[in-house]
Amino acid sequence: MRTNWAGNVTFTAAEVVTPATAEDLRALVRGSSAVHVVGSGHSFSPIADTTGTLVSLAGLPEVFEVSGSTARVSAGMTLAALAVHLENAGLALHTLPSLPHITVAGAIATATHGSGSHSLSGAVRSMEVLRADGSTVELTSPGAVVSLGGLGVVTAVTLDVVPSFQVEQTVYEDVAWTTLLVQLEQIFAGAYSVSAFVDWQGGATLFAKHRVGDPRAAFPGRPASAPVHPVPGQPALHCTVQGGVPGPWHERLPHFRAEFTPSVGEELQTEYFVPRTRAVTALRALAEMSTVISPLVQTCEIRTVSDEDAWLSPAYDRDSLAIHFTWVPNTPAVLALLPRLEEAIAPRPHWGKLFTVPPALLAARYPQWDAFRALLTEHDPKGVFRNEFLTRYFGSSASS
Ligand SMILES: Cc1cc2nc3c(=O)[nH]c(=O)nc-3n(C[C@H](O)[C@H](O)[C@H](O)COP(=O)(O)OP(=O)(O)OC[C@H]3O[C@@H](n4cnc5c(N)ncnc54)[C@H](O)[C@@H]3O)c2cc1C
Repeated sequence: MRTNWAGNVTFTAAEVVTPATAEDLRALVRGSSAVHVVGSGHSFSPIADTTGTLVSLAGLPEVFEVSGSTARVSAGMTLAALAVHLENAGLALHTLPSLPHITVAGAIATATHGSGSHSLSGAVRSMEVLRADGSTVELTSPGAVVSLGGLGVVTAVTLDVVPSFQVEQTVYEDVAWTTLLVQLEQIFAGAYSVSAFVDWQGGATLFAKHRVGDPRAAFPGRPASAPVHPVPGQPALHCTVQGGVPGPWHERLPHFRAEFTPSVGEELQTEYFVPRTRAVTALRALAEMSTVISPLVQTCEIRTVSDEDAWLSPAYDRDSLAIHFTWVPNTPAVLALLPRLEEAIAPRPHWGKLFTVPPALLAARYPQWDAFRALLTEHDPKGVFRNEFLTRYFGSSASS
């Protein structure tokens, strides 16, 4: 793997290694002065990069052990593979993001989320972490969960799981922008998971995922008469089944099916979290910028994420609205626009997507920023996992 999924990041790693055993991994980490793990490489920010050794866990033996209401799983497993194991055991995760192609640890490290609940990191009970000195620790602190890959190699994760459940997905088209703003709270409370795709020009399309057995709420707009891709013009074949047909949680909660390319492929992404109390104000501020947003955007998705205790989750300590942008693949133009959006809504950005918020401003938006910096130093005093991305935001190991 020499680039990330989108191709906008070329890894600067001297080598990419896929160890086949836990002992090979330990030996590699102990012998490295700079190492970082890459999951499936779906982040748009250079968060997974290193100038040293880039490690993929894809070659390690799979772990899947259920104990009561938890499952201990290998960190490098994809969410798609995990979902099949869980479903076969009559179990489920409480949420899934739009795509199942990514790894368990990669998703958790960036607070990857769906809509209507906590992000995946909210399900983490503990993480087995291999540190630079070769020691292994079991971390349970909420501070460690959204690690940005900086604490060490997460080799296994113990997750809260729930009984399997069925979901029906219905798409509602032609929802007026003003209706979305006025009924925002009711719309997002109307189903187990709701996404609103908006074009900033006056319309919205709702993807409502109802948990079978939950009370049904009415939605504005009209039910789509045929399957719909969230990005206009893309094939709906790539999407999970819609039309109100019940199916297992993992075949409805993601928008995209594991066997197809998710989203568009030719794209960049950004996502901004604002507190729910500022949701409508932030949406209005962005709508006022629609003439500069529209030429660069392929689609925008609005979701809700419940407040959580992982220190670096953008939803830390506050119920949040997550406003996502799928951009055209024009990095200079997108990076030139982002500061204007960030100035308008003062967000906490998604760590795995593109953003330009300066480190000092970002630090001020996270109450546990300094505590996380101390955690980095505690677990990785020599800065072996401290790549350029982490150094930009948290300083080098020497200065921290
Ligand atoms: C098409 C598309 C759709 C997306 N949809 C969503 C969505 O619905 N919701 C959402 O929140 N995000 C979404 N994302 C973003 C994506 O979920 C995150 O970027 C996620 O981190 C990618 O996981 P990955 O396995 O590819 O990790 P990578 O991008 O490879 O790595 C991300 C971080 O995790 C760390 N990491 C990975 N494995 C380990 C490990 N074993 N130990 C320690 N650190 C590790 C890496 O070092 C890095 O810091 C989407 C991305 C794409 C491309």
